[in-house]
Order: sequence, then C-alpha cells, then structure tokens
Amino acid sequence: MNYYSLNKKAPNTTFKDAVIKGLAPDKGLYFPETITPLPASFFENIDNLSHNEIAFQALQQFVSPDIPKAVLKTIIEDTLSFDFPVVQFNDSISTLELFHGPTMAFKDVGGRFMARCLGYFNQDNTNEVTVLVATSGDTGGAVASGFLGVKGVNVVILYPSGKVSDIQEMQLTTLGQNIRALEVDGVFDDCQDMVKRAFLDETITSKIQLTSANSINVARWIPQLLYFIFAYKQLHKKHKDIVFSVPSGNFGNVCAGMMAQQLGLPVKHFIASNNQNNVVTEYLKTELYNPKPSVQTISNAMDVGNPSNFIRIQEIYKNNFDSLKDNLSSYSFTDQDTKVALKEIHDQYNYVADPHGAVGYLGSKAYLKDHPNAHCVFLETAHPTKFLDVVEDVIKEKQPLPPQIQAVMGGQKVATKINNYEGLKGFLLD
Ligand SMILES: *Cc1c(COP(=O)(O)O)cnc(C)c1O
Repeated sequence: MNYYSLNKKAPNTTFKDAVIKGLAPDKGLYFPETITPLPASFFENIDNLSHNEIAFQALQQFVSPDIPKAVLKTIIEDTLSFDFPVVQFNDSISTLELFHGPTMAFKDVGGRFMARCLGYFNQDNTNEVTVLVATSGDTGGAVASGFLGVKGVNVVILYPSGKVSDIQEMQLTTLGQNIRALEVDGVFDDCQDMVKRAFLDETITSKIQLTSANSINVARWIPQLLYFIFAYKQLHKKHKDIVFSVPSGNFGNVCAGMMAQQLGLPVKHFIASNNQNNVVTEYLKTELYNPKPSVQTISNAMDVGNPSNFIRIQEIYKNNFDSLKDNLSSYSFTDQDTKVALKEIHDQYNYVADPHGAVGYLGSKAYLKDHPNAHCVFLETAHPTKFLDVVEDVIKEKQPLPPQIQAVMGGQKVATKINNYEGLKGFLLD
C-alpha cells in the first residue's frame, strides 16, 4: 500500500516511509491510496474468526509489502495479547472496554503495533529513530510501554507539569531504558507546539530522524479500526443498527471506526462525543470549522482545540458535508454533565466508568432520543482508576487498583524539567 499526503504537495510513499516520517514533508497527514473492502464472507463468517485472524485480514492491505505476512502475524499476536469485552447495559446501550492493555488506555493497541513495526524496520540498526511525543496524559504511557526496550528507537515524551494524573505521570516517568520524560512548565498545547517546532527545525532534523507516535502516524491510527470489528463480532447476532459513540479528542479513534466502515463493517452511524472542546460539534451545526485553544476539563485526553484527524474524516467522505452528516453526529458536554453521568452509570447499571467513557455514554443517550431503535456502543477508552480523584469523588466509593497500575506506583520518577523550546532542543542535541 502506498500513502499520499492530504496536503497533496509531497510524493506518495510506502507504509514504511510513512511510519518513519510520521508527517509528510509538506506537513500533510498520510492517507492510504486505496481501501479495498473485505469480502462479504469475512463478516458472515466472523463468529469463526479469532481476533488475530480478524486483525490479519483487516490490516494486511495497509502494511504490505513492507511488512511480510509472517511478520505481520507475529506483530498482531504481540499487540493483541489482551481482551476487548463488550458489556451490555440494556437493549439500547453497551460499552466496549478498551482498557485491558498494559497501561489501561485504548492507545495501547496503536502504541504496541507502531512500536513493533518500527522495531522490524530497524532490525539491522540502520534507521535509528527518535519518537517525539507530547501527551495530555494517556498517549505518553501507552507509547512508553509499547516502545520499551525496542532496539534502535529512542522515545522522548513531553508532558505538562502538574496537569496529568499521578498514575499517568508514573506510567511515563518510571520505565527507564530507551524512554525519557520531559516535564514541561506549561500546558499541553505548549508541549504540542514544542514538538511541532522540533519537527520543522533543521538543526535538529539534519542530525536526528524524528517521528511522531500520536494518531497522525498511520501505524498508531490504523490498527484502531480493529476495535469496531471486535465489537461487531460480539453484538451482531443480537443487534442490527449498531452505532458507535466515541469519546473524541484528536478524532483518531472515531476516524479509525470510519475506516472499518469503509472495509465493509455494517455500522449504522458514528457519534463523536466531546467535552467542552467542541469544534466538530459546532461544525456539524454550522458548517463552519473554527479551531480554538483547548480548555481544560476532567476528560483531559480530549482537551484538543484543533483535532488533527478531522481532515482524514473529511477525506473519507470526500469533503461532502451531507455525506459526513449522514454518518456522524456530535454532541458536547460539560464537566458537570460528565459527573452526573458517572453517578448515573454507577447507580443505574452498577458500572464504574471513567470521565471519557461517561462523555461517550452521554453521546449515546442524546442520539437515542431521536433514534430509539439503535444500539449504541460507547467506547470506554481508559480504566476508571486512571482518573481516580474524579471518579471516587463522584461515586463515593474506593476503587481497587488493578495490578498494572499497582506495578507502576512503586517506581522511581525520573523526568527532566524544561521551560521552553531551547530546553527541548538542548536535550535532543545533547
Ligand atoms: C486519547 C484519548 C481519547 C481521544 O481519542 P482520539 O483518538 O484522540 O479522539 C479519549 N479517551 C482517552 C482516555 C484517551 O486517552
């Protein structure tokens, strides 16, 4: 598969090159040249396919020939070594739990898949790369864990000091080896700006091959389409009109769901559930796209003012507003709404959600008002204990820490403090 840049001013390139570069030379996001639907028999026969078989068939076209079949099989086995259960609340609502991976965030799948692809490309040690990533919380941990010990790959993670949860901070500062953390005196947008500047800085890029590990990277983004197929497998016998409500920040996850739909997955509709960072909710109402600085919320992994992947979504629907609206609804909710939802989910369904999942639940409820026959699946994108303060405060119940979380809490935090771009540059060139 070759990939083109959505800015259309850079040459098309291979999967390998797209993964190593992250962003195209014209700063556009890469997009696959073709998407070939899976045969109808794939979906008819899905009950007989394992997760690994589903993944192999769904991903092969996007990575071949750069990743040979046998290698892809191994990468998939390593990546998907945990479960993706659907928990049904009632006839109208289910949740798809995406938090059973090593860092208990849905980003584990993309992080692990990308790390293993880069590891394969770098096995002869000629392509040493530095993964540079800014995190508002969950990306950092998933990337750190996914890339830990991968040869020839150095990872540098920037996070805003005091703005990530204690558990998230431990997940990205305690691993050591090829993972280094930079604690930035600022907010997430400052971290993001510094990363963007570094990618444009020739004094750095002439010496170091930098790549990104957020969802702009095709190897982080594309494997996320599997979640939607796994959910379909668990639900299709009971429910026809399956709608996914995706708590969205950079819109990588919901856009991956749309890729699954392009592969032929019978999805009725998508809901992008947002917190107060609501550029897309507003766009669908007004057809005006107005990026804004992000505002801080209790679902902080979705505090994004200008979602990078929205341009990919527009590409999928050929920049046709009506066709986009046929496939996507969006709602936005306040922190107060989110807390009420956390409590409601706990009291009515005896289920503990995290704030991001709670926003997804609210999106499902809003959609069901006008579409009572749909079955809405909201994605639970993080384990509730990653947002312990908010969750315990709302449901007034102590939460036991899962083993993955307990394991990092005993670690030793190692982070380098930086105040500005010069600090980052000095660190990288040192
Ligand atoms: C990253 C993240 C999101 C948002 O996902 P996008 O692909 O950026 O839209 C939602 N919830 C959690 C917990 C996350 O970590």
